[in-house]
Amino acid sequence: MKHLFSREGQQAIDTVMAGRPLLAFDFDGTLAPIVARPDDAMVPLSLRLRLSQLAEVLPTAIVTGRSVADVRHRLGFEPHCIIGSHGAEAPTDWLADQPTFDWQAAIAPARQLLHAQQAELAAAGIVLEDKGQSLALHHRLAPDQEAAMRLIGALIHALPGGVRAFGGKCVVNIVAEHAPDKGDAVNQLAARLGCGVGVFIGDDVNDEPVFQKVPAGWLTVRIGREDTMSSARFFLDSHVEMAPMLQQLLTAFTRHGPPQRTPSEPPPADPGRG
Ligand SMILES: [Mg+2]
Repeated sequence: MKHLFSREGQQAIDTVMAGRPLLAFDFDGTLAPIVARPDDAMVPLSLRLRLSQLAEVLPTAIVTGRSVADVRHRLGFEPHCIIGSHGAEAPTDWLADQPTFDWQAAIAPARQLLHAQQAELAAAGIVLEDKGQSLALHHRLAPDQEAAMRLIGALIHALPGGVRAFGGKCVVNIVAEHAPDKGDAVNQLAARLGCGVGVFIGDDVNDEPVFQKVPAGWLTVRIGREDTMSSARFFLDSHVEMAPMLQQLLTAFTRHGPPQRTPSEPPPADPGRG
C-alpha cells in the first residue's frame, strides 16, 4: 500500500478520473471525523463544498454502516445514492426490480435477545443501536473496555443462527448472514449506473470487502495505515487528508474536461428556440 499523495497515487487519480468514475465513500472516519458520541458526527464544511461540486458532475454514493435515514442529514450535500447497514439497506428505488430479502426479519431473533439484555448492556456502558437492517453494539464509552468486550462476546456467542457479527472501531455489528456486504453493494451500484471504474474510500475493516471485490482498475483508498494487511491500493494518513484528496479529484476531473459527445448523439437543444 502506497500513500495516495505519491507519484503512483497521482497517476492513479488521473487515470480513474479520465474514466468518469462512480465516487463512493464510507461515512464515519472517512467523510466525518470519529467522535465520542456517534450522534455528533457530521461532514465538515471543507468536505461538503468539494463533495457538492463532485456530485454535480459524477455519480456519487455513500456506503455506510448507519441507516440511510440516520446518515442523510449529516452529509450537507446530496449524493445520488445512499446504501446503509453495511450493504444490507438498499436504496428504495432498487426494490422494485429485484427480489427483496427481508433482512430485518432475518435478524429478528437476535434483535429480541439483545433488547432483552438492554439493562445489562447499559450498566456496562454499551449502547445497543437498532438500525432496522442491522444491529450495533457500541462500546466506545464503556468505562471498562475488557468487561464490555467479554459481555459482547458472550452475547454474540449466544445469538441464534442466521446472523453474522463483525467488529469495527469500538463497535460490533450484527447483520443477516446472507445480506450483501459493502463490496457486493458497491459492485451492484456500479453495474446499475454503467460505471466501468470507480473510487472508494473507507477507514475500517468493514470497508475491506469493497477493496477486495471491486475490479482492479478502481482507485481504492484506506484512511489510516494501522492495518498493514488492507487490500486497498493506497492509504491516507488521516481524515485530515480528505479535503486535499477531494480537491485532487476535482482538479483531475477539470483537466479531462466535460464528456465528449459521440457523433451519433443529437446536438443539445437550443434553449433560445424553446
Ligand atoms: Mg468508517
